[in-house]
Amino acid sequence: MYKKVIVVASTNVHKIEEISRILPDYIFISMAELGFDQKIEETGESFAENARIKAEAVSKALKLPALADDSGLSVDALGGEPGIFSSRYSGGGDAENRALLLRNMKREKDRRAHFCCCVCLCERDGTCTFGEGETYGRILEKEEGSQGFGYDSIFFSDDLKKSFGTASAEEKNAVSHRARALFDLRRKLEKAALSL
Ligand code: IMP
Repeated sequence: MYKKVIVVASTNVHKIEEISRILPDYIFISMAELGFDQKIEETGESFAENARIKAEAVSKALKLPALADDSGLSVDALGGEPGIFSSRYSGGGDAENRALLLRNMKREKDRRAHFCCCVCLCERDGTCTFGEGETYGRILEKEEGSQGFGYDSIFFSDDLKKSFGTASAEEKNAVSHRARALFDLRRKLEKAALSL
């Protein structure tokens, strides 16, 4: 049986590897490999909207099904911030974002937080299927470990009982918001196939 080809609206090789591992019935190709290098503005007001905007733009341009994700960190004591603005929180890079979050959480007792991820698969006819995942924990007082990226080194995972910054890629992938969103999408695709 031929496998369906899906373009991933990302150039992150690790993301594409993780997606291929969780959804082995498809062939995933990075949008860059097909010559798509435009910057897509994330103008949505939710993770789902931003994932759909990216998947639709790539699917329309390349006339192929496309998968996109959008993710971020939500901190209870900050009313859910930085949320969809996670990558743009400080106006600088990952280190500046972490430093700003630690400053904003200084002396805060309630340190609960969770990562959220929404994935969207957009078919050529415009049909979109979504998957959602979350992973819970708390914001540390200071950085622990240097693994991963983004807010990993200041996030203590309830599942792993340690900072994502000290976790291996395998450990993090077993409990990550992104993996859970992809499993949710897989469940929905399997259900849709069964009901055809
Ligand atoms: P994007 O969905 O890849 O654009 O990620 C949005 C931003 O959320 C990233 O730049 C990070 O700051 C943060 N983020 C998302 N997922 C993770 C994660 O697994 N670990 C650490 N930070 C993350």
